[in-house]
Amino acid sequence: MTRGRAVRAAPTAVACTALLLGACSPDLTPAAPRNAEQPTIQSSGGGRPEETLHEVRRIGTSLRGRPIRAYRLGGQRAAVRAVVLGSIHGDERAGVAVARALKDGKPVPGFTLWVLPTINPDGLARGTRTNARGVDLNRNWRHDWAPLASPYYSGTRPFSEPESRAFRDFLARVRPRFVVSFHQPFASVGLAGERPGFTARLSQELDLRRKRLICTGVCHGTMTDWYNSRFAGTAVTVEFGAHPSRRYLRGQAAPGTLRAILGSARVTGRATLAGG
Ligand SMILES: [Zn+2]
Repeated sequence: MTRGRAVRAAPTAVACTALLLGACSPDLTPAAPRNAEQPTIQSSGGGRPEETLHEVRRIGTSLRGRPIRAYRLGGQRAAVRAVVLGSIHGDERAGVAVARALKDGKPVPGFTLWVLPTINPDGLARGTRTNARGVDLNRNWRHDWAPLASPYYSGTRPFSEPESRAFRDFLARVRPRFVVSFHQPFASVGLAGERPGFTARLSQELDLRRKRLICTGVCHGTMTDWYNSRFAGTAVTVEFGAHPSRRYLRGQAAPGTLRAILGSARVTGRATLAGG
């Protein structure tokens, strides 16, 4: 049980209130403080340190040196853990907006939510499906891996890419019961046979049809298949449409994803998603 008030990490950008006085320039973006990726401090009114409810963890680095970050909401020792991945393909940005809305929400008691806006920051920066080496990071996993050509180039071998290795190691450590991986543009929730209730809740909350996602001949080495074949938890692919509105993503998809997870985990109580 945590009683204290969560103190968020210091902002990485500082309002330049002295701009008119010439004391600072709008072109200067202050570097992130050294402790920006350390766990934030849980204030407990001067008592002993308690478990933190917020953490920013750098789980790896992209080929071009960009950080891959995971944001934790909720205590680390919660009974139910879930991971939401905003994007693995850099040209599919809808899930990033959902992930950002979720990471800015409040922790839910008894529940750990890890949010990763992207594991492909190079692709996101360039607007490409693949990482900086042209590898489709959702074809680079060791489950049923096969050599595939562009645009699904699967790399030279399973886990050839630092981004997929970083997420693999993260998932193996966290072992979430639920993983939601956002994509576009097929407007559907992929069927995950083990937990039909979870996909049904996602389908209802996100207003997306459940569908067996068929990608003829190129569904090799995917993250969700890898996770589902090795762990007790369930990883689900959620495809938004081509152009979902920001209002839908932040106002419906973000809280709806959380409700679907909580409903399936049978976490009860006064769970609410602030913000969003
Ligand atoms: Zn995708």
